[in-house]
Amino acid sequence: MSLVTFAIVYLFTFNQSSQKVNAAEDDQPEISNTADPFIENVQLTRNSPDSKYNIQYPKTKSSRLNKTINESITTIKEEFLLNHPNNSHLIVNYKVVKHKKLYSFVLSQKVKENTDFIEKKYITFTFDPTTEEILSINQVFPKEEQFNSVKKLIQKTANHSKSVQQFNKKNSNKLSIHEHAHAYSNFIISDNSIRFYISKVHLNATYSETLIITLPLHMIENYLAPEFRTIKKETIQSNDSIPKKAISLTFDDGPNTTSTKFILKTLKEEKIKATFFILGQQAKENPEMIKQIKKDGHEIGNHSFSHPDLKKLNNSDIKKQVQQTNKVIYSIIGENPTVFRPPYGSYDERVIKYAKVPVVLWDVDTLDWKYHNTKFILKRVNTEKTNYSTVLMHDIHMTSAEALPHVIQQLKKEQYTFVTASEMLKIKKLQ
Ligand code: ZN
Repeated sequence: MSLVTFAIVYLFTFNQSSQKVNAAEDDQPEISNTADPFIENVQLTRNSPDSKYNIQYPKTKSSRLNKTINESITTIKEEFLLNHPNNSHLIVNYKVVKHKKLYSFVLSQKVKENTDFIEKKYITFTFDPTTEEILSINQVFPKEEQFNSVKKLIQKTANHSKSVQQFNKKNSNKLSIHEHAHAYSNFIISDNSIRFYISKVHLNATYSETLIITLPLHMIENYLAPEFRTIKKETIQSNDSIPKKAISLTFDDGPNTTSTKFILKTLKEEKIKATFFILGQQAKENPEMIKQIKKDGHEIGNHSFSHPDLKKLNNSDIKKQVQQTNKVIYSIIGENPTVFRPPYGSYDERVIKYAKVPVVLWDVDTLDWKYHNTKFILKRVNTEKTNYSTVLMHDIHMTSAEALPHVIQQLKKEQYTFVTASEMLKIKKLQ
């Protein structure tokens, strides 16, 4: 940061626009309290004919952190005044999230030239008030091997996102994130998720925006440095044993009364427990199938009510999608779903929060919804699975139901144990 600041100061010394910067220093900050005694809100406003800005940033009880934040704000302001034409408008906002003793701040900046906001950038600080230290990503994931697993998860989650999928369809070069730790240096941690802001410069291809990836904390809990974990390993009973090889079969979008029935019959014959991610509207239509799934001992997950892209909904509609489904299922079996899977794997921290139960994704997509081909499903499972994989299938397709006995036979031959989504979560925590 200091290098950048130095470069800009140097430029200004020999640049005629130094006038502008002096003027920018004249604005009076307005300081107000926030709900958190650790943080005050600072507001800077400039409304001159050549340029406008509205900047809000936090001022904390730590002078060390304030110094770093102030340097960032100065750099943002100077870069804006240097690089944007007259009549541009800069807006800087921030948000704060907490995880245990840590504070995470994200400064987001956007610039409007003419009528459009043309860029959005993010700078984050994750701060430990007890040591007055701004944490690097390597302190959060201190073990290289575990950090690598997190990177893989981030890439996988990115591949699931709609905008990346659209990008990959149009471009021969698939979007991938650089491996060096610097690419992951902008992150915030809340009580239930960790979010990465991956700048365009850390992507292999020309992507139009910062790539924002949110991972539920429970997915990476055992990769975190011990002091940041919320679940202590000791709290999990030591007599729980981890199967050497395990796989979790999951079925989405049902139930119906044809292929779901066929799948339940197969699972019963093979003495296997699976997980069904139910759509509320399907449950309403087919309550007897929900009863059967429960009676057979499978796990029931919530998959929203009507399968929307939850990231695109407002808070109250996300809540509705979760709660309506819970309500229907509760009215049939007297229990709420124990896991949640967002449609299309599309979620953000609001979804994680309102789901109230762990968000479960998958790492093997059989693409059964796309090809409706039993041989292809079997091939996908064989080539994509690793130990402790979660396999995504859809119980509403007859081809998927027909593939299932073959999939199970193959996995049994390889001595896999079949576990439910919650059991797999537990395994991953014990690992
Ligand atoms: Zn679905």
